[in-house]
Amino acid sequence: SGRATRVARVSPRRIVASSDVEQSYIMIKPDGVQRGLVGEIISRFEKKGFLLKGLKLFQCPKELAQEHYKDLKERPFFPKLIDYITSGPVICMAWEGDGVVASARKLIGATNPLQAEPGTIRGDLAVQTGRNVVHGSDSPDNGKREIALWFKEGELAQWESVQTPWLIE
Ligand code: ADP
Repeated sequence: SGRATRVARVSPRRIVASSDVEQSYIMIKPDGVQRGLVGEIISRFEKKGFLLKGLKLFQCPKELAQEHYKDLKERPFFPKLIDYITSGPVICMAWEGDGVVASARKLIGATNPLQAEPGTIRGDLAVQTGRNVVHGSDSPDNGKREIALWFKEGELAQWESVQTPWLIE
């Protein structure tokens, strides 16, 4: 009966993990790749303790950049933003875990790196809004939308980290 109880406690979390768990789309922008900051930036999310579900180096087509940033298409900087995002390869990542969207935004820091706190990625590694090295989804719904936009079926790994019991009680 002890065993049955354990199974019953474990399996609901598994079901949640495969469908409903929160995910954030995190992208190292072309300046972060060109400046050799890929390892540094990935390391911050890795050390925090979220689960990496997808990762690739990718040259973004213009149409995808426009779709990703469609809410900003009326802004004066939109054409420059699209040129920037498509100017070289990006690192696309899907990170998973309760609270990952808000937590990743905190790790990333304010949009303008001059306003970003020291200790954040932008606060430590960037100086200009137009070269702010990293993207993070701003809501769980956008996390889902953006991961579906940037990753194809089968590009996300289904796995469990051995660290999980040491991160989540
Ligand atoms: P965030 O990336 O912090 O969610 P926004 O969604 O407001 O910020 O903007 C998306 C991206 O557009 C920013 O990360 C930045 O690369 C670019 N951007 C925003 N505002 C400006 C601006 N005034 N000038 C140039 N680029 C900008």
